[in-house]
Amino acid sequence: MKIKRKVLSLALTMAVLSGIMGVNAGASMNWYSGSNRVAFRNTSPIRVSAQNLGTVSPGFNFSARVAESCTQWRAALGVNVASGQTASSAHIRAYGGSRAVIERAVGEYNTTYAGTNINPIPHVTIGNISTTDGVKSVRRYDTVSEMYVVQLRTESSWHSHYINLTRQTTTHELGHTLGYVGHTTNDQDVMYGGNQPQFTLRNNEKRHLSQIYDRFR
Ligand SMILES: [Zn+2]
Repeated sequence: MKIKRKVLSLALTMAVLSGIMGVNAGASMNWYSGSNRVAFRNTSPIRVSAQNLGTVSPGFNFSARVAESCTQWRAALGVNVASGQTASSAHIRAYGGSRAVIERAVGEYNTTYAGTNINPIPHVTIGNISTTDGVKSVRRYDTVSEMYVVQLRTESSWHSHYINLTRQTTTHELGHTLGYVGHTTNDQDVMYGGNQPQFTLRNNEKRHLSQIYDRFR
């Protein structure tokens, strides 16, 4: 009897501790990022605007790239990520333009990036989750975020390679603003740390963020 009570009391202590720490015991989630953080957005729909900064090449077609990226994340998360919104009502404002114009807008000079966010995105810490890769912290983004995509060609002759690089960059940056913190190490992933022409979200990265939306939204 004594032993049984001790086990029960230990279980209760762990449950109380888990509650205090915000850890959902037994919730082993697949983790697919080099970061220890993840986030989500609570609005429905999540409104996204697209705007060119300065003069852009016709082949850049940024609003189409943003619309495609919204479609991909909408399917992955099961959440209405709505493109074509006005900037004043958007939760995520996507800007595209030449590297020089974007560097001026962002206020930082980096000749290597294809896109960027203004980091860190303001957030509310929600708690922790237990994953296959340890305990991770979950945040909620409540504020308007801005993302930037560099047009990689300055002339109007865009080849499919550059269009696909832009597709990957746009979906990648949108992923960050939707809550995907950090990068993957597989160069075929959209959330890989580098720019590559494979622009379709893959199962591991879709699941990484969708499980957070499923659980916390
Ligand atoms: Zn990134």
